[in-house]
Amino acid sequence: MKSNSFAMGDTGIQRKLGTICIFGTGDFGRSLGLRLLQAGYGVVFGSRNPKDSSLLPKGTQVLSHAEAAQTAQVIFVAVHRENYDFLGQMAEGLAGKVLVDVSNNLKRNQYPESNAEYLSTLVPAASVVKAFNTVSAWALQSGGLDANRQVFVCGDQCEAKQMVVDIAHSLGLTALDRGSLRVAGEIEDYPLLLFPLWRLPMAIATGLTAAFFVYVLIQDVVYNAVVNGKDNSFRIMISLANKVFPIVSLIMLALCYLPGVIAAFLQLYNGTKYRRFPDWLDRWMLCRKQLGLVALALAFLHVLYTLIIPIRYYVRLRLNDWTISQIKRNKTETLDTTMAWRTDSYYSIGVLGFAFFVLLGITSLPSVSNAMNWREFRFVQSKLGHLTLLLCTAHTFLFGWDKFLRPYKWYIPPGYMLSLILPCIVLVLKLVLITPCVDRTVTRIRQGWERKPAGQAGVNGTTSSQPLML
Ligand code: NAP
Repeated sequence: MKSNSFAMGDTGIQRKLGTICIFGTGDFGRSLGLRLLQAGYGVVFGSRNPKDSSLLPKGTQVLSHAEAAQTAQVIFVAVHRENYDFLGQMAEGLAGKVLVDVSNNLKRNQYPESNAEYLSTLVPAASVVKAFNTVSAWALQSGGLDANRQVFVCGDQCEAKQMVVDIAHSLGLTALDRGSLRVAGEIEDYPLLLFPLWRLPMAIATGLTAAFFVYVLIQDVVYNAVVNGKDNSFRIMISLANKVFPIVSLIMLALCYLPGVIAAFLQLYNGTKYRRFPDWLDRWMLCRKQLGLVALALAFLHVLYTLIIPIRYYVRLRLNDWTISQIKRNKTETLDTTMAWRTDSYYSIGVLGFAFFVLLGITSLPSVSNAMNWREFRFVQSKLGHLTLLLCTAHTFLFGWDKFLRPYKWYIPPGYMLSLILPCIVLVLKLVLITPCVDRTVTRIRQGWERKPAGQAGVNGTTSSQPLML
């Protein structure tokens, strides 16, 4: 037996919150031990080589597995699943104990059953609880738990689960009870998921950016090279980027609000909110926040690219040339009030749209949205969201101004005109939805009313579909 500081009795250290046992003195075991010790628990490690264990937090004890198991009711198994065999061999000594399985796998579906279920077959007389696998050793040790404060807990015995939940709370973590041990596999998959809700928005953003980049490249560079024999390729770096980013941003903002509108029309068509939406629509609605945030990032890029326009070599040269030619010709430009109105409106609406866009982004942060009630959140995300879409669409219309009716290069309309199609569709559909008679029916459906076949009255239902942001 080896003690890392004060020994208090034969079996371990008695602290205010009782003693916890940890099997395994590796990275996770040590970090968890330190954290438990800081929270006020006594910590006893169970190790294959108690005498050789080093680097353990001061104030903990190391014993053999069998001895350590006797010191505590709750035992954290901080050992990889491949090494669980020794637990089966000491199953008798673990009877009645709460075994916390913290293990993760290297890939999904690596084993036929979850690690926690496997552990419960090895030690059937113990209460196995799956927890803490989504918290990293580094976060536990450094105390920087902001990114992963949440501990998912599952298990078949309520009392055992509650003991683990209490431990999580005393470490400053939030615990979420996910149910029985059957969901352990799902919880074990969490650390293996890589931005699942961001995949679709990122794929859309990449696809649209690539497609529109080629489109504006043909119009601005290839066209000039072929028709005018001019090399405009330098425009790729800033001018083209500053065309593509706002186009994709506007389309993605519209894509953020389109599923809500489609869902409302589906509910109107079905006459009920109790019919499931198609899977593609469900998936689309689930990633609206991510769609909006990617759109906001692209809008940011548009703002930055716009701000650097005055310092560009090409722009300064053109401006100097124009000024010198005016001086040479002794000419003064008169103020075109229409143009002044147009440009000022274009900029001002763009600035307002961007400001609301940023506000939408801020309110989607969990720390901010948690401080709002559902009505406030709905107001910001729905009303302000559509207002943002309206402003950004108006900004693009003002950019086009009279160019909509001019002949197009190679008969293909400029990219920004194409970017207006989807936002206009969303805004028109939304306009239809907010007309009093349609709005009244949608609201009734959302409150549970169902349209019955002729001759039957409407009833209130009890189930609920995905909350909608219209
Ligand atoms: P580790 O550094 O490799 O430590 C594993 C420990 O298991 C070893 O230090 C050893 O302790 C014990 N062990 C090794 N072979 C054994 C065997 N044949 N029989 C009995 N015990 C054996 O791994 P870790 O990073 O601490 O991870 C431990 C568990 O926590 C894993 O299941 C992992 O998936 C999970 N986890 C880790 C993290 C993390 O950030 N590291 C996060 C969440 C979950 P002794 O020498 O003292 O016996």
